[in-house]
This record gives sequence, C-alpha cells and structure tokens, in this order.
Amino acid sequence: MSQEQLNTHTLDMKDVFAKFNTSEAGLDTKEALERTQKWGANTLPMASPKPAWRRFLGQLNSVLLYVLIVSAVVSALLQHYIDSGVILAVVIINAIMGFIQEGKAEDALRAIMTMTKTHCMVVREGILQTIDSAQLVAGDVVMLQAGDRVPADIRLFFCKELRCDESALTGEAQPATKRIGALPEHTPLAEQKNTVFMGTMVTYGQARGVVTHTGSNTQMGQISDLVVNVKLEPTPLQQQLGRFAGQVTIGIIVVSIITMVLGILIHNYPFSDMLQAAIGVAVASIPEGLPAVVTIVLAIGVQRMAKNNALVRRLPAVEVLGSVDVICSDKTGTLTANAMTAREVYTGGQHLKVSGEGYGPDGSVADHSTGKSLGFDSDTVFSQACDAAMLCNDASVVEENHKWILHGDPTEGALLVLAKKHGLNESVLNREWPRVDMLPFESEKRYMATLHHHSDGAVKLMVKGAPERIINYAKYQLTPDGMAEINQAQWQQVAEDYAKKGMRVMALAMKSYDAPPGVLSHQEAEHDLVMLALVGISDPPRPQAIASIKMCHRAGIRVKMITGDGPVTAAAIGEELGLNISRVMTGQDIDALTQVQLVRAVEQTDIFARTSPANKLQLVAALQHNKHVVAMTGDGVNDAPALKKANVGVAMGAKGTDAAKDAADFVLTDDNFTTIVKAVSEGRTVYDNILKSIIFLLPTSLAEALVIIAAVLLGWMMPITPAQILWVNMVTAITLAIALAFEASEKNIMEKPPRPFGQGLLSFALVVRTVLVGGLGALVVFSLFNEFRNQGASIEYSRTIAVNALVLIEVFYLFNCRYLTQSIFHRDFFVGSKLLWLAAAVVIAIQIVFTYLPISQTVFGLENIGIQDWGVIILATLPVMLIVEIEKWLQRQLRQAL
Ligand code: ADP
Ligand code: MG
Repeated sequence: MSQEQLNTHTLDMKDVFAKFNTSEAGLDTKEALERTQKWGANTLPMASPKPAWRRFLGQLNSVLLYVLIVSAVVSALLQHYIDSGVILAVVIINAIMGFIQEGKAEDALRAIMTMTKTHCMVVREGILQTIDSAQLVAGDVVMLQAGDRVPADIRLFFCKELRCDESALTGEAQPATKRIGALPEHTPLAEQKNTVFMGTMVTYGQARGVVTHTGSNTQMGQISDLVVNVKLEPTPLQQQLGRFAGQVTIGIIVVSIITMVLGILIHNYPFSDMLQAAIGVAVASIPEGLPAVVTIVLAIGVQRMAKNNALVRRLPAVEVLGSVDVICSDKTGTLTANAMTAREVYTGGQHLKVSGEGYGPDGSVADHSTGKSLGFDSDTVFSQACDAAMLCNDASVVEENHKWILHGDPTEGALLVLAKKHGLNESVLNREWPRVDMLPFESEKRYMATLHHHSDGAVKLMVKGAPERIINYAKYQLTPDGMAEINQAQWQQVAEDYAKKGMRVMALAMKSYDAPPGVLSHQEAEHDLVMLALVGISDPPRPQAIASIKMCHRAGIRVKMITGDGPVTAAAIGEELGLNISRVMTGQDIDALTQVQLVRAVEQTDIFARTSPANKLQLVAALQHNKHVVAMTGDGVNDAPALKKANVGVAMGAKGTDAAKDAADFVLTDDNFTTIVKAVSEGRTVYDNILKSIIFLLPTSLAEALVIIAAVLLGWMMPITPAQILWVNMVTAITLAIALAFEASEKNIMEKPPRPFGQGLLSFALVVRTVLVGGLGALVVFSLFNEFRNQGASIEYSRTIAVNALVLIEVFYLFNCRYLTQSIFHRDFFVGSKLLWLAAAVVIAIQIVFTYLPISQTVFGLENIGIQDWGVIILATLPVMLIVEIEKWLQRQLRQAL
C-alpha cells in the first residue's frame, strides 16, 4: 500500500478504514510509530538554501563594495599594487566575514521563525490526544476544529458544518464547505468535499477523519514551490540603511571628485596622485561593516526574545516593538493565570461555596450560610446542575505524577472539577446520557449546548454559557419542588455579585424533551430553557502581570484589556491589575458608536468587555487613527484580521489557534503578558544597539575621510595611507562594532517613552555626534602626525603614530557608545561590559602585531615606535572620550530644558 496512488475520495468509508487498517478508534501507538519509521515524518521539505557561492557573491552585492572594487582596479591601473592588493583583500575578507557572520545570524533567525510547531488532535487507542503534527501517519484519526491548520490530507467521516479556507491550495478565497460521502472518480480537487488538505485552514465547524496522505505525498507537497521557506523581510531600519548607503555613496563619490579637482587646481598635484587620494577618501568613508552588524544585532535580539518565550515570525516587527505605545491584551490566560476554580454556586434557592484548589477532585461543596457540607443526592437542583456541567463539557483532567493536569478549556475544566467534587463520575454519566449532537462554544454566541439521549428514551439539552444570554433564554428555573417561573432579576443580581468579586460567571441550564428535536440548532437552544445554576469561577491575575503593567505605564505604554468576559468581572480584575477602570466599554457600546466617537472613546477607556473579534479590529483601527503603534494579542480564528492589522500582532502559543499564529508577528510560548513587555524591552534594545553601532561607525569613517581631504586641501603629506585606513576599518568593524551588538539593555530602557515610529535615522543628536567625533578624530591624528614630522621623525614613523592614534580613538569612543545619552562614568562601566573590554584588548593586541611584525611593516609602510610614544598617543586620544561625555551632558541639559 503506497500512499501516492490512492484516490481515496471515491471510496466508501469502510473501504478507507480497511485500506489503512484503522478504525474510528484510531491506530495503536506502536503501529503509528512503525508507520512513521516506514514512511517518514509528516513534514514538507525545507527549501534548499541558496548555494554557498551565491550567498558569497551576495555579500559583494552592495554599492559600498562596488566603490571599493572599482578603487582596487583603479589603484592597480595606477600601479599602486600594494594599495590595490590591500583593498581587494579587504573586500574579500569583508565578504568572508559577512558570509560567516550574517550566515550564522540568518540561520539563527530562520531557526527561530520555524520554531512554532503545529500540533493536532488525534485519536489513538481510542483516546483523544495532542501530538506534534510531524508525527502524524496515514491511518491516524484526526479531530479538527475551527482555527486548526489541516495537518495532512484527511478523508472525513464526521463533519459538523465544516468550512475550510483552501486559498493556499486552490486560490479560491471563498471557504469551501465540507461534507461526508464518496464522490465520483473525476471530481476536481476544489470539489472534493469529503477531503481536507494539508496546509488549508479550518475556519468553522468540527470534523473527524482519517489521514490518507502525509508529507510530500499530500496535494500541498506536490506543489513543489510551496515548500517551507522563511523569508527574512528587511526591517524598517534595514530599509532606511539601504537608502542611506546609496545616498552616502553618492556623497562620497562627489566629495572624492571635488577633493581630486581641488588638489589639482590649488596645488598642481599630478592627476594620478589625486586619483589615489580620491580612492583613499572613498575607501576611508565607507562604513563597510554596517550591514553585517545590523543583521547580527537583530539576530541577537531575536534569540534573546526566544529565550524569553517570544518567538518572532516577522523580522520587521522586532523593531516596531520598540515603538509600541499601546498594548491591547486579552484578559483570560494572558493577564490572568487561567487557573480556573469554581468558588461559588447559586441554584436559585441555595448559595453554595466550594473548597479545594487546582484541577484535583479534592474539595467539597457546602452551604454558604450554614457551612454544612452537601451530601450526594442525585435529585437536588445542584446535582442536576452538575450533570449539565459535566455533560456539556469537552475538557478532561488526568492525574500525572501526582498532579492533576487539564486537557482542554480551563473554564470547562473548572466546571468538570466542580461536578467531580460533588461526587459525579464522568464515564458513568456519559454512558447514561450519550451525547448525540452539539453546538460548540463560539465567542460570538458565548454558550455551548449538547444534546443527550438516555437509553430509556429521555432526551435532554444541556447548555452552559454567559449568564446574560442564558438567563434571557430561560423561562423556568428548577426548585426542589419542580419547575417554576424564572425570577430573572434574582439571577441577574447574583451574577452581578459574583462578577464584582472578579469571578467569571457561568450559567447552567437545560431543557427536556419527550421526542427528540430534528437537529440541534441555535434557535432550539435559545428559548424555554430551565435555569439550573450560576457558577462563580475565580481566575486571579498573574502576579507578574501587575508589575509588568506598572512597568508599561512608566515606559509610556498604555495597556488596554480586551476580553469576552462580562464588564463587571473585567472591571474587578482590571482594578486588581492596576488598570484605569473609570470607564468600561462593552462590544455593544463599541458597535453603537460612530467611527469618530470611537476614535475619541478609545483614548479614555482601558477596559473592553464582551467584545467580539470584530470589535478588536475596530479598536486597532481607531487607535491607529490616533497615531498609536499598537500591539494586539489574540488566540481565536476570528482574531486573525485584528492581529494582521495591528502594528505588532501577538498570538498565544499554548492556547492559540494555528490561524492566529499564522497571522501574528510574534508567538508567545507561555501566553504570558509579562513576555510581551520583556519583548518590548528587547525590541527597544535592538533599536538602541543598531543605533549605537551606527553612531560608532559613522564618525570613525568621517574622521578618516577628513584626514585625507584636509591633507589634500592643505597640500600636506597624508598622515595615513588608504591601505592603513582600510586595515583600521576592517579590524575595528569586526571587533569593536560587533561588541556593541551584544550590549545588554540600558537600565532605564523601560523608563523612557517609546521611540516615535518611523523616525529618521539621522537625528540631530546623531549628526552632532558624528561631526564632533569625526572632526576631533581628524584633528588629533593630523596634529600628532604633524608634531612628529616637525620633530624630525620619518614619514613612516609619523604614520605609525597616526594609525595607532586613530585606532585608540576608536577604542575610547567605543566606550562612549555604550550609552547613547547617559554618562558612562558609572559603576556599570567596569562590571557590565566584559565583551567591550575584551574587544578593546583584542584590537590593541592586533595593533601591536600590526605595528611590529616585519611583513606588516613592509606592506603597510610602518616603523617600530618607542614605548614612550604610546604614552603620547594615549594622552592625545583620551581627551576625545572626555569631550564626547561633555557633549552628551550638554545634550541631556538641552533635552531637559526643552
Ligand atoms: P476571554 O476573552 O476572556 O477569553 P471568551 O471569549 O473565552 O473570553 O469567553 C467569553 C464568555 O463566553 C465567557 O465570559 C463565558 O461567559 C463564555 N464562555 C467561555 N468559555 C465557554 C465555554 N467553554 N462554554 C460556554 N461558554 C463559555
Ligand atoms: Mg477564552
């Protein structure tokens, strides 16, 4: 039986089962394992990476390097073979470094971006379980529901209003409705309604089916160019840098030509000398290390985020995160722990309280006023409510290593455990009242209903959901003496009381039939219900969330809570979390407002309750209209549009659907609000560190260019040759600038307001710094060179001094760059920056070798210099560091004054 030739859509279901030697109860685990070994994992092949030589050539493909290559050729034509050789060597070494470093960084990025695994629900040995989709084999029985990405090609045998978005496969935007039953032989793919295909998305309904094809045997696998390929989109800053590099190059060429022309006109220098000088200017001023540094900073940031449970799916979002000024967060499970426990129950006549923690069945139910424990009696109203709680429920709890683990929805888990505490037994009850149909929970309807047939012919509908819905659908309530007219006001009062304590309130109701209704429809579930009980379920805030919200507020980030829960519960939890609860809006309120009113209202409101996924989209739009940069969390299928629209879409890794994860920029593996805040801080750090690298590289390039330009214009000897400058650039770019990429976040990173979005690369402060350091550097190098020449030192000796001065200036300036605006004279200066010290030490060691090694002396035209002259160099260069600190201080004063 090979997978390829099977055309399963024509077969009857029993033949499909027979063909794959399976049944509705699924495979056994051993058989599944053997099949994986035989047929391989259920994965699509990764796109083969570009061949190494093409990636290497890609490194050379930058305007900056073109200029260098042209310079090398021109130098060779001028018979300056050493210069030409050095330039070429630099080009190649640069490409190799970029190839290795960027390659590593990009691999790391790709690895993280593919880390979001998909899981699926299979039935094996009759038990429903969650497995990694890669382990799926033909013959497995899979359960699908809205929001799932279809993990393989699956022939359906049960189908409840299943709709699939198959656009990834067929290009058809309209979701396809699925049904069961064999189809004729030549049914086209788009018409194969009894089969769902790998990679498509379930948008609605539920289904079960048998896996017929896995991995590359699936329809998706046969479309060869649709293999897994993570695209590394350039971030806004990378785009800006790309444009900037273009402009800089034009600038450099213009300046070089002007220098050349002026040299010829003013000093009558020979053309070839001036051409060489022009090349020197170009070579000096090109910050060739920049692109690699930026990629490395991004990769480090992304790795740090992954370590903190935030997986990046789209690279540009990493930078945008640093500009976020509004975080819209789900309440349940993100701001709260999602450890739901039923605490109180109201049955219409009696108030009960429930003891016990977690999902274990230890605990009891007692009368609230007398404290007397409730004995088990199957006829009480509470017992009937527990029936509904247990039957209208898809969750299960199992004991693993003495701990009770929940599978499924926590709200349902809490209700299940409540019934267990009362002494009900799941398997007994389910056998007595088998489920024949259901309406799954949807956040729009806010209730779930199930239909059960007793063997004695009785039929019952069980409903659980949001109280304001269920109370309205109910006409009766159950009392110890039988059914009575419902007292809606009373129920509403209790629901409100529970909500005020911050509890999620669930209503339980039922309906009995003499003859079964045809189909279970929403219409059927929404009238004449018999109210059974209200359950108050506590779900306390995550302790860290309170601190994280405080941190956001200090960091100029507003936190808005968006929940499907009721407004009173939301406000109570919001208060505990430290949010502004002066105004609470519900989804209905939002729907009643005009666009203009909503734009105003979102500014004053931090709590949004009973919202629908459509409301989330409206909120994002309104906030963005007000120029906010919005991060939005989501987990459901219908959250995808809001996640896409938000500047940063954040999906829940644990409870989120595949649809939400697909649409998101980030996936939180722990669903925790604190993780978002950590990621924001990391996003700010990434931006800072890129800025630090730029602010380090630009002034040093400028200093080098100025030295040559000044020499030409003044008609003096060049203090540093182009070859020497290239050497300096290369050494410092691969050591010093990269050390900055690893800098930890500045301490006060979350005390500053967010960086305005789309802010230009070259801020005023950056320009001032570049000009100051560039000018000072050139001045120091020039003066030292001149001084030594005047004292009778040889050109080579004076140049050796000048080159080493230039390097030391960069080393000192590197320490300035640790903080963009803060002073570096700080305790952390010595403890916090091991890598910087290491980089500095390495550069100095390399410089000593460079200076004294005979072969390097020949190539670069250097001489041995005396130990006391090192002292002179240090004395001359150290002040640059101090002057930059003074400039920072002035800028800080200026900013405060403004
Ligand atoms: P949240 O945004 O807090 O996750 P949900 O959309 O999950 O909110 O739930 C909204 C409301 O729907 C809840 O307050 C509750 O009343 C009801 N509800 C939640 N889960 C279920 C469920 N499994 N079955 C029935 N009703 C539910
Ligand atoms: Mg929920």
